This record gives sequence, C-alpha cells and structure tokens, in this order.
Amino acid sequence: MKEFIATDLDGVITDTDPVFREYIRRVTGKNFKREQVTQYFYEKCLPISKEDVDRAYELMNKENVWEKMSFVEGAKESLKKLGKNFAIFIITARPKETKEKTINFLKKNEIPFEKIFFLKEGDGKIDIIKNLPARISAFIEDRLDFAKSVALNGIRTFLFDYPWNKTEEKIPNLIRIKGWGEVLTHLLN
Ligand SMILES: [Mg+2]
Repeated sequence: MKEFIATDLDGVITDTDPVFREYIRRVTGKNFKREQVTQYFYEKCLPISKEDVDRAYELMNKENVWEKMSFVEGAKESLKKLGKNFAIFIITARPKETKEKTINFLKKNEIPFEKIFFLKEGDGKIDIIKNLPARISAFIEDRLDFAKSVALNGIRTFLFDYPWNKTEEKIPNLIRIKGWGEVLTHLLN
C-alpha cells in the first residue's frame, strides 16, 4: 500500500498570488508587488480593505479563474512523480463554491490525488489531517500557521519560502524549501 502525503493547493500547486494581485488591481486600481505581501491575508499587509479582497474574489469567481490557473514551477511534473509512490490528499482553504471548477482543473491537468478537502471557515488544516483515514508522512503548505500546527503534531512539513510566511521562530519538523525540486529530494530519496 502507498504511503500518504497531503498538500495545499494555492501557492503550492497553483501560482495564485499574481492572479490575486491582478484582481486586487482591477477592483482597487492599486498595484502591489509580491514582496509587499508580507502576511497571508492581503488586507492585513496592504492598504486595502477586507471588502476590496471580497470584491476581488467575486470577480475571480465570475471570470472562472479557477479553471485556468498557472502552476507553481515544477508542481505538475513533481506531483505526477510523487503520485507513483504516494497517495496524495489535497487540502485547500479555497471557498467550497469553487469545488467543481477546482476538480475540473486538477483532472484536466492529470494531477494525481485521492481526495480533495475544502476547509471549513475557522478550522485549521490539522483538523482535517487528524481525521484522515491514514497518517500522512509529509505535508506541503505555504501558510505559516497551518504549516506550524501540522509540524507541531509531529508531521514532517515542507513550507514554501515566500514573503508572506517569514518567521525567525525555529519550528520542529518544519522544513523551509525553495521549490518542488527539494520536495522530491526529501520524499523520493
Ligand atoms: Mg496556500
């Protein structure tokens, strides 16, 4: 039987930040650089409101960006390789309304996965991970608080190193990585 791993979607499989900043530009007229996104929630680190963020989201839904996202470099090929050795769960905080489109996108691109979970608002990813049918041997994420709580539960966690997840804190089981190549090195060797 294959070992299990779990991965995030936005920022890890799909390159969501540039899309999100483009939609924020369209609804606010304000241009922001990736380096300015120093927190996971854009309204907490940029001079925009939660309403602006909600409007950006609405427009993204309306224009169905979820079926035409770009991939993080190496994500597609790496997941296909990993799928030969591991059963993959995808755990996303995307709104549940995007479920059908998200699944279409993953299937169209032949991304191997056992099951996709949509987080309930207020829940952490560890809540889903604790209820999975099997223990996972690794978790891949780009949001610091999600990654931290999973790592602190003894699961080896790979955190993509981005402007919005910087910390000085040393967290056991948390491995900061630059890209999918490093995930493969750790998991396939
Ligand atoms: Mg993410």
